Amino acid sequence: MDSIFLEQLITYGTVFLFCAAIIFFYLRKKSRTSKQTLEKVATAKEEGLYEPVSLHPYIDPNACIGSGACIKACPEKDILGMVNGQAQAVNASNCVGHGACFHACPVEAISLRIGTEKRGVDLPHVNENFETNMKGIYIAGELGGMGLIKNSVEQGQQAIDSILKNKKRNVEGAIDVAIVGAGPAGISATLAAKKHGLTSVTLEQDSLGGTVFTFPRSKVVMTSPMSLPLHGKAKLYDTSKAELLELWEKVIEEHDIEIVENTKVENIFPQENGTFKLVTNTNTEHLANNVLLAIGRRGSPRKLGVPGEDTQKVAYRLLEPEFISDKKIIVVGGGDSAIESALLLKDENEVILSYRKDKFSRLKPKNKEKILQAEEDNSISIIFNSNLVSINPDTILLKLEDETTKEYKNDLVYIFAGGELPTTFLEKAGVEVTKRFGYTVKKHR
Ligand SMILES: Cc1cc2nc3c(=O)[nH]c(=O)nc-3n(C[C@H](O)[C@H](O)[C@H](O)COP(=O)(O)OP(=O)(O)OC[C@H]3O[C@@H](n4cnc5c(N)ncnc54)[C@H](O)[C@@H]3O)c2cc1C
Ligand code: SF4
Repeated sequence: MDSIFLEQLITYGTVFLFCAAIIFFYLRKKSRTSKQTLEKVATAKEEGLYEPVSLHPYIDPNACIGSGACIKACPEKDILGMVNGQAQAVNASNCVGHGACFHACPVEAISLRIGTEKRGVDLPHVNENFETNMKGIYIAGELGGMGLIKNSVEQGQQAIDSILKNKKRNVEGAIDVAIVGAGPAGISATLAAKKHGLTSVTLEQDSLGGTVFTFPRSKVVMTSPMSLPLHGKAKLYDTSKAELLELWEKVIEEHDIEIVENTKVENIFPQENGTFKLVTNTNTEHLANNVLLAIGRRGSPRKLGVPGEDTQKVAYRLLEPEFISDKKIIVVGGGDSAIESALLLKDENEVILSYRKDKFSRLKPKNKEKILQAEEDNSISIIFNSNLVSINPDTILLKLEDETTKEYKNDLVYIFAGGELPTTFLEKAGVEVTKRFGYTVKKHR
């Protein structure tokens, strides 16, 4: 009897110890993860990456069950983390707003928000038909607050449907619709306009594809099929940037559509007869009965206004750095885009980084570490307190800290001086814009 009791005691004891060990390791892991996440949150606050300017996930603490599905689903690094068994935003400013986390959450504890309680974000007024307070000016895509390729594509065609329904005005000599921007929303609107036989023009300040064209990574995440006018359903889930751009280019070509690239709409002037005159940086003018703004939220690159800036060797983003070698390059700027570009170019080229301030601030920690290392091993020359004053065919002129100017041999210039947000552009056209603090743009699937 005693031996049976002893045996049972040992069995129960072993089970108890085993369970206790599992609980111990689980709690230890949870506490470590929480500690690591809180450290990252503290760094994000220091680096100014905690308060996001654009779309980002908001986690409802009363609904989150700590499944961690959102963290696994997010293809970006350290945007979300776990604290005490619940998800928490970390580097929310790096969120690209594609909502993989939102779709992955099994209990719908994540919503996508724009602006936070502390940091407001300008959003234009748009009604359910995508029309703004200015009758005849419509907005589709991310500019209205809703991110994601698929949503923008849907909104582009829905806005054209609304224009078709509201087509009361038809002033002779004016096209039915001028579409501004050729990102996912603008492309889809262009195809929808063609499908419905509307007369239209699409003006793009850069190249076809919008933000997708400038993705730093080739992977594109789409959580559900995208329906493209004149093409039908495109089941591209985990696709690539190249595949998506190829599809858009193919449909556009097949239907003989022209998208006017490298043409920025600078002003929209409402006319007395209800039409709109669009004026571009290439001095062209377009008269339209309706305008669809599909310009996203990233704005236009800020120019320095220095002589020579309009030449071919100047660019405001870096594409295909792998094809650039043996060049003398100046990168202007001190933000993450400038640093990342300089780092990508430094191994095959001679790179000068010119920054107008005396030190870097608000950089991603990894970028800061890498750029200072590059300066130390002389693979990049950093010139703080300097300003680009002119760009010549084979040289550039920099104004240095001591107010002297110095000429440097140069083949290429990359300027990363931030962007002009679309708010002023919208307000000049009469579109009302309001600052939103923590505005929920996506709540339900
Ligand atoms: C790094 C990154 C990764 C992302 N990954 C994904 C992803 O995997 N899946 C996903 O669904 N979404 C992703 N997104 C979000 C997605 O790219 C955007 O939601 C989408 O591109 C918005 O489309 P849009 O047409 O509204 O605007 P945009 O794509 O921003 O296009 C706007 C266009 O308007 C042009 N424009 C602006 N002003 C003017 C003007 N005055 N005159 C003429 N043209 C003008 C711009 O040059 C631009 O081409 C990502 C975003 C980023 C930044
Ligand atoms: S929206 Fe995309 S980038 Fe932002 S947290 Fe969710 S999955 Fe990550």
